[in-house]
Amino acid sequence: MIGDLHTHSTYDDGASSLLEMAEQAERLGLDYFGYSGHSFQPHGEAWCIGPDRIGTYLTEARSIKERFLREGRTLRVYVGLELDIYGRPEEGLDYIIGSAHGFSLGTDGRVFNVDESLEALRFIRDELFSGDPYLMTDAYYDQVARIPEATGCDIIGHFDLVTKFNERYPMLDVRSPRYLRRALEAMSYLVEKDSIFEINTGAMSRGWRTEPYPDSLLLERLHDMGGRITINSDSHHRDTIAYSFDLARRRAMEAGFDSVFVPTEQGFEEVGI
Ligand SMILES: [Zn+2]
Ligand SMILES: [Zn+2]
Repeated sequence: MIGDLHTHSTYDDGASSLLEMAEQAERLGLDYFGYSGHSFQPHGEAWCIGPDRIGTYLTEARSIKERFLREGRTLRVYVGLELDIYGRPEEGLDYIIGSAHGFSLGTDGRVFNVDESLEALRFIRDELFSGDPYLMTDAYYDQVARIPEATGCDIIGHFDLVTKFNERYPMLDVRSPRYLRRALEAMSYLVEKDSIFEINTGAMSRGWRTEPYPDSLLLERLHDMGGRITINSDSHHRDTIAYSFDLARRRAMEAGFDSVFVPTEQGFEEVGI
């Protein structure tokens, strides 16, 4: 059983339409496919589905889901959201990916996102955390730990997003106890909350990383803690659906996992990798 639940479209910052995405997933032979457009959040984020478009997004996505069912096609379509901790929830979703993209600090409510650009990340480190990358990652993982309460999610999105640029532009040592301490504390808390973690290949398809999130050491620890996983592409274009899933599965098995969690109409179920 193979599928992809973390995907974007022209409704947010993706480049393919909802239908193009599902049709490509079907061509690839996936068993399931999900829409997880960025939830709206205040401060005019350009990459979110605005309040004026969310209704159309849900209606169109649900009609594609129903059409695939009605026509007896093998691909099962699910309708969700990638809900940021500062995002606005919606009713009646099939699933939610909960994500922490950044910090809202200061009085003007502006959100500083760690994945926006290398320049933005350096600004956050220097201006908000006195130039100390580990103070920044500590604060980031405190945000990550808030995800279940803030979003009511099924899946934790890109757990270590704060390291997006680190492979090409090293800022911190992801194997150092200083970094790992708070990351593992957040991970352990999320495992207790029964969250499903995604292996996310999104930064690979966009050329920032050669390895998926989470880092292999974190993935090993996740397995040792009894965590649960699923595999997603965070695709913003139909050509990157299920991107590098062979590597993602290999990393999962190397970390000790022999199963992943997949969606059904009754909730998530465990299947062999
Ligand atoms: Zn995200
Ligand atoms: Zn995403």
